[in-house]
Amino acid sequence: MQNDENDENGIGGEARDRAARRDEAVRGAVDQGLLGPDAAVVGLLDVTGIRESAAALRAAFDAVVAPGTPVLHAFAVKATPLVPVLRLLHEEGIGAEVASPGELALARAAGLPPERTVLDSPAKTPAELREALALGIAVNADNPQELTRLDALAGSAPTRSPLGLRVNPQVGGGSIGATSTATETSKFGVALRDEGAREWVVQAFRDRPWLTRLHAHTGSQGIPLPLLARGVAETHALAEEINARIGRPQIDTLDIGGGLPVDFAAESTAPTYAQYARLLADQVPGLFDGRYGLVTEFGRSLLARHGTVVARVEYAKSSGGRRIAVTHAGVQVATRTVYAPGTWPLRIAAYDTKGRPKTGPEVVQDVAGPACFSGDLLAEGRALPLLEQGDFAAALDTGAYYFAHHYAYNSLTRPGIYGFAPDGSGGVTFATVREPQTVAEVVAESGGAHAAALTILRARGSR
Ligand SMILES: *Cc1c(COP(=O)(O)O)cnc(C)c1O
Repeated sequence: MQNDENDENGIGGEARDRAARRDEAVRGAVDQGLLGPDAAVVGLLDVTGIRESAAALRAAFDAVVAPGTPVLHAFAVKATPLVPVLRLLHEEGIGAEVASPGELALARAAGLPPERTVLDSPAKTPAELREALALGIAVNADNPQELTRLDALAGSAPTRSPLGLRVNPQVGGGSIGATSTATETSKFGVALRDEGAREWVVQAFRDRPWLTRLHAHTGSQGIPLPLLARGVAETHALAEEINARIGRPQIDTLDIGGGLPVDFAAESTAPTYAQYARLLADQVPGLFDGRYGLVTEFGRSLLARHGTVVARVEYAKSSGGRRIAVTHAGVQVATRTVYAPGTWPLRIAAYDTKGRPKTGPEVVQDVAGPACFSGDLLAEGRALPLLEQGDFAAALDTGAYYFAHHYAYNSLTRPGIYGFAPDGSGGVTFATVREPQTVAEVVAESGGAHAAALTILRARGSR
C-alpha cells in the first residue's frame, strides 16, 4: 500500500492515489446529486485514506516499541467529532481522547470501550470526573486542584480508571501561538520549571500510589518535530526521576499527546508517523524499551488529509479588476482559515459543472464564501483555472478542525457530510456521516420555540 516513489512533482504514490480518489468522489457526488443546486456545499470523507492513516500510525509505533508494550492510540476527538469516524477508527484499532462531556458521549455512541478512552481537559467538573471514574476511563489531572478532587473521589469509591497528571515541560512554542501548549505560561498542566513545581510533582506521586501516568501534549500544528520530541524527552526524564526517587516503577504509562503537524501546502504527507516514531526512538532512549506503556493522542494528522469541502460556485464576478468566485464555503466551514488566512492557508482545487477537474489557463482569483462580510474568503489571489458559475471549488485537507466545526454565522446551515469508498466496479459509493442541517432546525436552535419570550418579559416588567 505504502508507495513512496515520487513523481517529477515530488508526489508519492500514496498521495497520488489519494488525489485520484478525491477527484472520483467529487465527480460521484455531483453525479449522484449529493452536490448541486439544492446542496451547494458538502463535506466528503475518504474512508480508504482514514484506514491507511490509522494503519500507518499503528505500524510506526509497532516498529519501534519493545514487543508486548501496551500502546493505545487515542484519536483526539476534537479534531473530527463525528460518531461514524470514531467507529471507523475504533475498527482500525484507534481509541479516543475526549475533552468534554459531549466528546465523551460521542465516543460512547461510537462504541468505544472505557479502556480505550482517555479524558483530558483543563476544566473538568466534579460530575465529569465522577462519571469518568465510574466508567473506568483514564483521566489525566490538569492541576493540583483537580488532583485534590481526585483524592476525594478515588478515596470514596474504588475505580479501574488509570489516573495521571498532565505536565507542561515548558519547552517553548511553535509558529502558531493559539496551538502552542508548552510555552512558559500555557494554561495546560503543571508548569514543570516554575519554582518548586518539580518537587511538588514528585511529592504528589509519592503521596498517591494510584497516580500511575504522566501526560504531556506539547502543541498542535506549527510545532516542529524536534520540539515535540523535546517535550516527550522531558516527560520521560521526569518519569524516570519520580520512579527512581520513589524507589519503584509507580509511573507505568506515558501519554505523549498528539500534535504531529500537517503540511497544508502540499499533497505529500510529511512528516510521517514513521519519521516521528524513529525520531523519538533516537532522541528519547528508554521510551520504547517496554518499561512504559504508551498513549498517543493524534488528531489533525490522522484526519486532515481525508476531508474535502466542496462548494458550488453560485456566481463568478469581477470587481475593480478583481476576479471573485462566490461559493457556498466560507467562514461557516473554514473558520480558522477565514479569520487567520496567513496561519491556516488551504489548497483549493477547481472542478467543472460535472465535477471533473477543471483545466484551462490559470487565472488569479479570489474564492469567496457566502457570509456577509468582506473578509469571508477561502483563498485570496490564487492561480486556478477560471471558476465560472455552476463550477465547484474544493478546499482540501479539511478533514480535521474544519467542516466538523461549524460556525453559525449568518445562520448558514451545517452541510451534509458523506464518507466515500470505491464501489468495486470503477465508481464511488457514499454513506451519510451527518445529515445536512435544515432551515427548520436552525430556527429551532435559534429560540424558535420561545419567539415571544422577550416581549412577554417586557410586558410583565412594565406593569
Ligand atoms: C488538541 C489535542 C490533541 C490533538 O492535537 P493534534 O494537533 O490534532 O494532533 C491531543 N491532546 C490534547 C490534550 C489536545 O488538546
